[in-house]
Amino acid sequence: MDLQSGYPYSLVKYGLPNDYPKLDRDLRTTVTVIGGGISGALTAHALVQAGIDCVVLDARTVGLGSTLASTSLLQYEIDIPLTRLMQKIGRVGAERAYRLCADSISTLAGISKRLPGVPFEMRPSLYLASWQKHLPLIEAEHKARRAMGLDVLLWDADTVKHTIGFDAPGAIYSRTGAQTDAYLLTHGLHRYNIKKGAQVYDRTLVTDIQCHKKGAVLTTATGHTVRTRNIIIATGYESLQYIREKIVNLRSTYAIAGEHSETAMPWYENCLIWETKDPYLYMRVTTDHRILAGGRDEKFYNPARRDKLLKTKTRQLEQDVRRRFPHIPFHAEFSWTGTFGSTQDGLPYIGEYPRMPHTYFALGFGGNGITFSQVAAEIVCRLVQGKKHPDAALFSFSRYKG
Ligand SMILES: Cc1cc2nc3c(=O)[nH]c(=O)nc-3n(C[C@H](O)[C@H](O)[C@H](O)COP(=O)(O)OP(=O)(O)OC[C@H]3O[C@@H](n4cnc5c(N)ncnc54)[C@H](O)[C@@H]3O)c2cc1C
Repeated sequence: MDLQSGYPYSLVKYGLPNDYPKLDRDLRTTVTVIGGGISGALTAHALVQAGIDCVVLDARTVGLGSTLASTSLLQYEIDIPLTRLMQKIGRVGAERAYRLCADSISTLAGISKRLPGVPFEMRPSLYLASWQKHLPLIEAEHKARRAMGLDVLLWDADTVKHTIGFDAPGAIYSRTGAQTDAYLLTHGLHRYNIKKGAQVYDRTLVTDIQCHKKGAVLTTATGHTVRTRNIIIATGYESLQYIREKIVNLRSTYAIAGEHSETAMPWYENCLIWETKDPYLYMRVTTDHRILAGGRDEKFYNPARRDKLLKTKTRQLEQDVRRRFPHIPFHAEFSWTGTFGSTQDGLPYIGEYPRMPHTYFALGFGGNGITFSQVAAEIVCRLVQGKKHPDAALFSFSRYKG
């Protein structure tokens, strides 16, 4: 699959921070994680913290899947608003999903602190009503979030105007949010995990999986084998190669990074900004004072068509930023595009898949895939130990309705 193209800012900025070997011999291990992007790196981190022997295999150079394209906003707010999620899956499940994402931001903050050179900053988030007709959604959403104990404020149009500087009918200001660099975080995690005993191999494509009574044997494109008790599949959107059901709708999405600016805080608290319309525009400010913006999604997966639109989308996103902040001289210096997927209920699929014994999926789908990757890491780490996880049912494959 072609997951991203263009000039993702993280690759330009950080290059290849780490090298990993190719697998060139046969191995035996307790758990094999297939996929070394942010989901695989967080999963391996949970495993090493639990003292479990693990090997990570990635077909690409580490990090060059969807992780590289990520704009790395960390939000508890998933693509489906809490009130709509309640209608879809019930109040208890919806609140739990939001709570797990909020908690995972603090967990990610704690993990990042131990990883030298990985940027991580707590940032409030601002969820804008795109139009007047979305104001009731914002109000209901604010009420529902408050009711479950989230730290949120409802801003009216005047407050938006005088605080952030542009017109919007209203907004929810949330104190819980953060930003990082998913690509650098992935490398930081692998460095840490390797020191704790994990083995990471890249440019190592897994071509075959044979499950047996007591475990599985993986074969790579070069014919090497890994004998393992359990497998964790953290292959992002490429996981569809293992799953028969159409669990995810693939889209194409676009992102831009502006020039470095002397202005460290172009807007209020450099909050993460996004909005109610679909597809939504989102913006944040990097640690090196660049505005990142993304959105303008197209509802198809077709890399050639996706890439053809990059110039137009770059121009449109540039205009989107300028329209919001006409006083900021904004010019897109880097632009890129990537594949992106959403599920029916906005939640990822995590855990066992019936047709694959000894195997667990750790998928982080949707606009806040990274927070879901952390949730997935915690769940699958318990499951491989033969323990139950109280939240496993919320994300299980059995909820798929077709
Ligand atoms: C433009 C863009 C912006 C985004 N912004 C945000 C954001 O602001 N916040 C957020 O939370 N999320 C965001 N996302 C989503 C986020 O990037 C993804 O959820 C996340 O990167 C998925 O990581 P992953 O590790 O699951 O997948 P990947 O990074 O794709 O990693 C999976 C890896 O599996 C490997 N693999 C696949 N098949 C095999 C095989 N058979 N053998 C061995 N290896 C294999 C691949 O080589 C790949 O490296 C964004 C996505 C895009 C495209």
